[in-house]
Amino acid sequence: MPTDPHSERHAEVLVVGGGAAGLYAGVWAARAGARVAVLEGSRRAGAKVLIAGGGRCNVTHDVVRPADYCTSRAKAVVKKTLARHGVADVVAFFAERGVELKREETGKLFPVSDKARSVLDAMTSALDDAGGVLHTRSRVTAVDPRTAGGFDVRVSRSADPEPEAWTADRVVFCPGGRALPASGSDGGGYAIAERLGHTVTATWPALVAWTCEEGHWLQELPGVALPAEVRVTNANGKVLARQTGDTLVTHRGLSGPAPMDLSRHIEAARRSEPGGRLRVQIGFWPGATFDEADTRLREAAEAEPRAAVRSFLKWTIPQRLAEALLAGPVGVDPGTPLGHLKREHRRALAHLLVATEVPVDGDRGFDHAEATAGGVPLDEVDPATFQSRRRRGLFLAGEVLDVDGRIGGYNFQWAWASGFLAGSAAAAAAAV
Ligand SMILES: Cc1cc2nc3c(=O)[nH]c(=O)nc-3n(C[C@H](O)[C@H](O)[C@H](O)COP(=O)(O)OP(=O)(O)OC[C@H]3O[C@@H](n4cnc5c(N)ncnc54)[C@H](O)[C@@H]3O)c2cc1C
Repeated sequence: MPTDPHSERHAEVLVVGGGAAGLYAGVWAARAGARVAVLEGSRRAGAKVLIAGGGRCNVTHDVVRPADYCTSRAKAVVKKTLARHGVADVVAFFAERGVELKREETGKLFPVSDKARSVLDAMTSALDDAGGVLHTRSRVTAVDPRTAGGFDVRVSRSADPEPEAWTADRVVFCPGGRALPASGSDGGGYAIAERLGHTVTATWPALVAWTCEEGHWLQELPGVALPAEVRVTNANGKVLARQTGDTLVTHRGLSGPAPMDLSRHIEAARRSEPGGRLRVQIGFWPGATFDEADTRLREAAEAEPRAAVRSFLKWTIPQRLAEALLAGPVGVDPGTPLGHLKREHRRALAHLLVATEVPVDGDRGFDHAEATAGGVPLDEVDPATFQSRRRRGLFLAGEVLDVDGRIGGYNFQWAWASGFLAGSAAAAAAAV
């Protein structure tokens, strides 16, 4: 079929996926003068933007460093990308669209309105104002390079049994990863990327809560939350990754920012040491060593020998946790006076306060994950333009690439920055 550049189903830049990266790429491609169509498979675009940050959308973070991201190859691409379209550029874009961002104590940036809807509306209206068109319920099922240049794009419309045939000069590919497949990003994009000549690394859930073996005493404490130091070690005790931050005990295991940030490392470690026994430890007194904890308990016993251990501990950790630690693994009555605590019990308590072993047996999977570890390797795109090194005219951005960030707005920052570069470059290339 010949390309008709005036056809309603022809785009100079066709964006696959109307999530954070795709909408942002579409805006910048349209602003650069290209005729842009954004094809979104779901009923609505930007599902994750709307649910992010508990409906408030944590748009980005005050300080974003390459160290906040993981990728298996070509880490320098992350650094360059963040330098080319940084936090200030994102803040300026949303301010220009009437969405002021505010910084919270943690450094996370949210819209002043606390409404994720304002973030999504800013992008869809910017796309519209720039002349780009968003088509929802339009799932791309195939992207085929044409011998004469450009692409044939097959689109399945939910209301229509007949697939639509689109043509495009350039394609910006932003179908997301596998996290929260119900939102529309179900990993189907990887197969299309592979058919276009790309490889896809192993993928696994990132930013996801952990599950523990049944019967651990911590599981009796759902709802207990505290700042803690969480460590992943190998069987020899070598620390593979650590994170200090808010930690929440759940019926099934652990959640909250610190465990979720570490979740991708647990699986990475499992993969790097097949069959090896991984250990996860929690320090309820973050930063303290065993000796420091033991000294602190001894000094407390000298200063207030008649105070109950439970009463002393509750100044440093939640009372339910204190009682469970004492009555459970330490094996003493929580009302025991500090001065009566036997040496062996004091040392056991000190040990548990700095390194409680948690028998983590997995995670809650992609249905509950906020991001995907793995994807199309960064060395398969040109770092300046995000144009594929495998297929001219194809650009990739967002979570489909092998990049995942920490909790705190880092994943959206990656989506904005890579979307900006890919969209702008695709428009410029289309104009050639
Ligand atoms: C519950 C939750 C909360 C989160 N909160 C935050 C947060 O507060 N801050 C933060 O930085 N990050 C957050 N994230 C992560 C963030 O949402 C993602 O990193 C980001 O959305 C990735 O953008 P993307 O455009 O690459 O992919 P997505 O946002 O997943 O968008 C991909 C889009 O492509 C569509 N699509 C897929 N395949 C096709 C196809 N074949 N044809 C057409 N369309 C297709 C999908 O329907 C989807 O709309 C959260 C994630 C989740 C799940």
